[in-house]
Amino acid sequence: MRKARKLDVVCPNKKCMTYNKIGLKNIIRFGKQANGTQRYRCVDCKRTFARTINTPFFHKHLKKKEIITICKHLAEKNGFRAIARITDHHLDTIRAVADVVAQHCKKFNEYFITELKLTPIEVDEMWAFVKKKKKIA
Ligand SMILES: [Zn+2]
Repeated sequence: MRKARKLDVVCPNKKCMTYNKIGLKNIIRFGKQANGTQRYRCVDCKRTFARTINTPFFHKHLKKKEIITICKHLAEKNGFRAIARITDHHLDTIRAVADVVAQHCKKFNEYFITELKLTPIEVDEMWAFVKKKKKIA
């Protein structure tokens, strides 16, 4: 039996009694995804989830580093096709990342600033750019 420790992750299940409560010992590490993302399990509701749940990294088969690279190119206002070429990813992949980024834009400003080391202005410009591109696409 694995020991439950205090982790900086919370249960994402809204019906769980420990939903969104930090500092409890209800979350255990539960293996890793193929792309290296840590998975967790809530011992109260038995739900498993990825570390990246509710972030732009969730459900993407790309490595975090690759997504960061794509986001940095978006922030520099490179076109989707140019980014696909530079990063050697499919155009649809770039569109998918941009899509998730756009969906998360308000909620994850802080996250992008700390994790991607973008300035608030860069982040603002990235959202504006992504939204504009989405209208055209
Ligand atoms: Zn739970």
